[in-house]
Amino acid sequence: MKILVINSGSSSIKFQLLNMKTQELLCKGLIERIGLNDSIFTYEPKDGEKIKKILDIKDHVIGLENAMKMITDEKVGVIKSIDEIKAVGHRIVHGADKILDSVNLTAENIKTVEACVPLAPLHNPANLMGVEAMKKLLPNVIHVGVFDTAFHSTMPQESYIYAIPYEMYEKHGIRRFGFHGTSHKYVAMKAAEKLNIPFDKFNCITVHLGNGSSLTAVKNGKSVDTTLGYGTMCGVPMGTRAGDIDPAIVLHMLDNLGLSTKEVNNILYKKSGLLGLSGISSDMRDIELKIKEGNERAKLALDVFAHQVAKNILALAANLDKIDAIIFTAGIGENGYEAREVIAKRLSVFGIKIDNEKNKIRGEYGIISKEDSQVKLMVVPTNEELMIALDTKRIFEEAK
Ligand code: AMP
Repeated sequence: MKILVINSGSSSIKFQLLNMKTQELLCKGLIERIGLNDSIFTYEPKDGEKIKKILDIKDHVIGLENAMKMITDEKVGVIKSIDEIKAVGHRIVHGADKILDSVNLTAENIKTVEACVPLAPLHNPANLMGVEAMKKLLPNVIHVGVFDTAFHSTMPQESYIYAIPYEMYEKHGIRRFGFHGTSHKYVAMKAAEKLNIPFDKFNCITVHLGNGSSLTAVKNGKSVDTTLGYGTMCGVPMGTRAGDIDPAIVLHMLDNLGLSTKEVNNILYKKSGLLGLSGISSDMRDIELKIKEGNERAKLALDVFAHQVAKNILALAANLDKIDAIIFTAGIGENGYEAREVIAKRLSVFGIKIDNEKNKIRGEYGIISKEDSQVKLMVVPTNEELMIALDTKRIFEEAK
């Protein structure tokens, strides 16, 4: 069974075709600068060379038409006909508390996704552009929506309610939603499989550290708490986002520093985090390089980041009776062993011990703690596309 996975943004689309019998990636591609006359189309078949073309891609339909042509091309294609694609999985950012699992994107469910647009004004409409385009090209197969928020729908009230007047939740729906759910679920499942523990008995903390970062407590295979919230600004510091700050700072910026809402938004979303702290870059690789050159601000950026990650790991532990593993994933979590080392050192109070030699891995699976560590530390590369394909297959089979 072949499943196509689509991750559609407003001016870009990522696509992957997977053979679900073997979970093998058949090809992947990226369409960028949609709507401009020098759009970039990149395609990579599993055993072939990467192909890059500059095309005039007016809209998502034309972009995906090109993708379908490439996938079925005589020379570089990986299937003979698009009829071989049995289902399409679409990444969708926000399902709020309205969509709690992956779903068949029927007209009714699409309306619900549209109703969540105010919560993700940039992402949901862009995701839906991909759905609409793909439905035109493959009208007779099932289209499944896989939501970043869905994995967190199992959080108990004490995790998702903010301590502000309860009416804010009742009347205005203000609550924690959580994001990166597809990644948290995938790495937790993968770690349980590696450790030979049934997923519904698996307890862990997943630490997704990328350009955007969040941590999740997983109890018996279900998300019970997470660091991202109503929006995507809180929790640990990120590439350019501040993470948790005292809301009094926001009020002070607005009331006393003469900044507009737009300016404060720009500061907290685009100028803070690793970039704001270091004054150098939002990229952990640049920070690590500058630390080696003795740059103090770069060191401060890593220290603040590591401190907040460690603090949040320990805070999330309050949700669990036992922890089978702490799992690092995403760009920094998978590759940044210096960052992992600094974070892990701050967990020693609970007998958590990192093995500095085993820790020296980049982008591959491994257990990186010492034998006598109270909790296993693991690196599990995330694969959101595979998780989307697995969920799409499940919904396809349920719908049969
Ligand atoms: P992601 O959003 O998951 O693609 O992660 C992007 C982040 O991963 C970037 O900001 C980089 O700082 C970080 N990253 C990628 N490769 C490395 C590496 N080799 N060492 C440290 N950080 C890395």
